[in-house]
Amino acid sequence: MNSFDVVDWGKPLQMAVRDIPEPTGTEVLIKVQYCGVCHSDVHIRDGYFDLGGGKRFHMSDRGMKTPVTMGHEPLGIVMKAGPGAGEIPLNKVRLVYPWTGCGECARCAEGQDNWCAKPQYIGIQRAGGYGQYLLVPHPKYLIDIGDIDPAYAPILACSGLTTYSAVRKLMPCKPNDWIVVLGAGGLGLMAIAMLKALGHENIAVVDISEDKFAAAMEMGATVAVNPGKPDAQETLAALEGGVVGAVDLVGMTQTAELARAVLRKGGRYVVVGLFGGEIEVSLVTLAQRAMTLQGSYVGSLQELREVVELARSGKLAPIPVAVCKPEQISETLDKLKSGDIVGRVVARMDG
Ligand SMILES: [Zn+2]
Ligand SMILES: [Zn+2]
Repeated sequence: MNSFDVVDWGKPLQMAVRDIPEPTGTEVLIKVQYCGVCHSDVHIRDGYFDLGGGKRFHMSDRGMKTPVTMGHEPLGIVMKAGPGAGEIPLNKVRLVYPWTGCGECARCAEGQDNWCAKPQYIGIQRAGGYGQYLLVPHPKYLIDIGDIDPAYAPILACSGLTTYSAVRKLMPCKPNDWIVVLGAGGLGLMAIAMLKALGHENIAVVDISEDKFAAAMEMGATVAVNPGKPDAQETLAALEGGVVGAVDLVGMTQTAELARAVLRKGGRYVVVGLFGGEIEVSLVTLAQRAMTLQGSYVGSLQELREVVELARSGKLAPIPVAVCKPEQISETLDKLKSGDIVGRVVARMDG
């Protein structure tokens, strides 16, 4: 089989030829059909995330060792299972939940693998979908996508799940309470689609690039604000009834400060984006404004099942997806890094 691997941090992926892995224990072998090419792979390939204030989070400190096959949005055909996997249907197309944990701790036992202290994520610590085959540690991580387009389904496992879990943290709120979506890129559009799918009506989108506004409005945003304009903060703060929640898909100092400034009392700020930045928070203000600052990282296995259900129900508006070849994954990451991609890219691994 071929795989496209990170060999040296920050360098282009290299093709490797290796044996098809043999499933043992509860493992399941998947022949990859499609794998989403995600913006976070740009950082993972570099080997670090910028934490702001000159600090970095190194992938090598989190159990990631090179050479490694990235790709955490895989979908493929069930080929074979280890003796401990039980009876599972073969030759079926399944979406893979990639945020797998150690499988032994309390978080993993309750299905909150994404909060495991010893993550074994597919495409990060474990080999992922930028290869023709991969091993999934247990059949419970495989989800039936029904009649969802298999070229679209991969993005549900990462951007879909991430935005769903984040906007759910703003609930409960009334459908006409104002929610601010910071960032109108791929994740921002997905967050708007999720809010709409959950029946939400009043969504304000914020982005410095106004050419992204048309797509955001089409997806269901009702107000678009450029934070570079002097009246941006005023416009948001003046929304009727106040802003009850803000979901930040950028995660920089400026977006956090804007959100904090415009939230009404009792408002919630959920940060998802990993751009990198810091804010200083007055504890007195936090208490007096009864504000919630919350982080959200991907989502649980159950949440992914709910996202797939939403997509199968037809309530979730699809995001534009372009398909690339496996040999183009590396240059796609370069384009994601330079911001030259609209929507999402999915690699066709068996074409
Ligand atoms: Zn991703
Ligand atoms: Zn665990």
